[in-house]
Amino acid sequence: MKDQGSKPRSRTRSANGKAAGPDLASIEKGVSLILSGMGEDINRPGIKATPLRVARMFAEILGGAHEDPAVHLRVLQHEKHDEMVLIKSIPLYSMCEHHLLPFAGVAHVAYIPKGGRIVGLSKIARVVDILARRLQVQERLTKQVADLIMDRLKPLGVMVVIEAEHLCMSMRGAKKPKSVTVTSAVRGVFRSNSITRAEAINLIRGGPGSVRDV
Ligand SMILES: [Zn+2]
Repeated sequence: MKDQGSKPRSRTRSANGKAAGPDLASIEKGVSLILSGMGEDINRPGIKATPLRVARMFAEILGGAHEDPAVHLRVLQHEKHDEMVLIKSIPLYSMCEHHLLPFAGVAHVAYIPKGGRIVGLSKIARVVDILARRLQVQERLTKQVADLIMDRLKPLGVMVVIEAEHLCMSMRGAKKPKSVTVTSAVRGVFRSNSITRAEAINLIRGGPGSVRDV
């Protein structure tokens, strides 16, 4: 997060100098400016508290920027599990950094452990959640999930598929509601072995739980 202006700031900073959390007062000010820029009376009862509400909302839905997803990937040693693990249809809400509009859908994450190194199933969902609750683009989010799992678990391979609807495509611009953007990131054996990749895709595609059902 960039520091703007020269006014002293009361918010806390962590040891590395990075902002420890969002600056609610700045967000509030910004939202007031948007409202008055749109010609609204910012003292109108219906929207008087909107800047503060929006500031708190942004702190919540973009709060992943101040969390480290890696802490959730503590390795459990499992007696020789080396078959594919697929966590399918993890619900996902993120925010397009180009338009500040949400994109929402599901993530499917497959990996093949190496040396019995696995993580608790819910931890993968936590990682997706933390990386999604940031200003994002879908392609980067997909890669970040794959790279973090590769880095921490050192598995034989990882495959991440994200399917999402972008409100910036549905509500504005191209105005194509319900179109689904699919991105994938394949690492290790999923990249080098087309049979393994096809097996994961079949598992993802087969049965319920696609973005259409959300
Ligand atoms: Zn967008």
